[in-house]
Amino acid sequence: MKRDPVKLGPGDLVREEILSLQPYHVAPATGMIKLDAMENPYRLPEPLRVELGRLVSSLPINRYPDPAAPELAARLRSTFGIAEEFGLLIGNGSDEIIQIVAHALARPGAVLLAPEPSFAMYRMNAVIARLRYVGVPLNADFTLDPARFLDAIAEHRPAVVFLAYPNNPTGNLFPQAAVEAILAAAPGLVVLDEAYHVFAGRTFMDRLGEYPNLMVMRTVSKLGLAGVRLGYAAARAQWIRELDKVRPPYNVSVLAQAAAERLLAHIDVLHGQAERIKAGRAAMFDGLAGIPSVEAFPSDANFVLVRVRDAAAVDARLRARNILVRNFHGSHPLLANCLRLTVGTPGENELLLAALAESA
Ligand code: PMP
Repeated sequence: MKRDPVKLGPGDLVREEILSLQPYHVAPATGMIKLDAMENPYRLPEPLRVELGRLVSSLPINRYPDPAAPELAARLRSTFGIAEEFGLLIGNGSDEIIQIVAHALARPGAVLLAPEPSFAMYRMNAVIARLRYVGVPLNADFTLDPARFLDAIAEHRPAVVFLAYPNNPTGNLFPQAAVEAILAAAPGLVVLDEAYHVFAGRTFMDRLGEYPNLMVMRTVSKLGLAGVRLGYAAARAQWIRELDKVRPPYNVSVLAQAAAERLLAHIDVLHGQAERIKAGRAAMFDGLAGIPSVEAFPSDANFVLVRVRDAAAVDARLRARNILVRNFHGSHPLLANCLRLTVGTPGENELLLAALAESA
């Protein structure tokens, strides 16, 4: 009699550390006021949408994209001031760039080091790529303790340091001098994640020439193009040449390349929206200051981290009013009872503030 071979399931075959990972959390948002994911709340102006529609209809989507994305690369360089001498890596979102860096640097025993709390995907990609992850706690007020961070660098000799500038989910911008000290001390690559740079007005993009181990990574997501999925990173050409081998060649689609190239030609429109968001952030701080049970932490990004008495209860009451924010309680000890509020339109912000005043 023929016997069925024993079948192994995912529980047998998937790596232990992946079985124990929590999936990246994305809450269902249909019909909700979406203030959970740091998106730009403004749609493109009508003439730009029409232009985009025409462009899309003309694209050769029967063909694979050009992996070098020459028009997009030229547009990124001219818009963001990236000199030809530096290499440029493009990703399907900056999420993919984090993944590429982690995979490329995952020599046995290599360390990925980052402050904590910070963007969850640094640790997640370290685990997936089999880098050893070292998280260096921030102070209780989310400021960076440079001595502690430099000690951790000396102890662990990380292959790569990830620093979000400004940091997510805390919103603050680490001092420029601390970043300079980290760049000087780190033996390996330092990825400065400038996802929120338009809201902070600070950058290290113009300092690439000074630091051979600096990579500046950005995204167009927070600029109003989260649906396009485009991230980019600039560093010494020697770094990008190696990292580019890990990048899937067709990672940024024909549609994404063309849309981003055309929309970045209208960067003034996107910057105008960012200015409105910054004004919204200031108004949000004013409003939050009037709610005694809410403690708001300083932000240079398009979101504000707050601490309330009972984050789960407040989150539930906001949801009951169709307002979606992100509850970080339980994700890290320093984030006890913290909610992250994305700055929306003035109308959305007012609804949020009114709901917080009644719920917090
Ligand atoms: N870096 C940071 C600090 C972020 O907060 C995010 C998105 N939340 C990303 C990178 C990833 O952005 P994207 O993949 O949309 O480019």
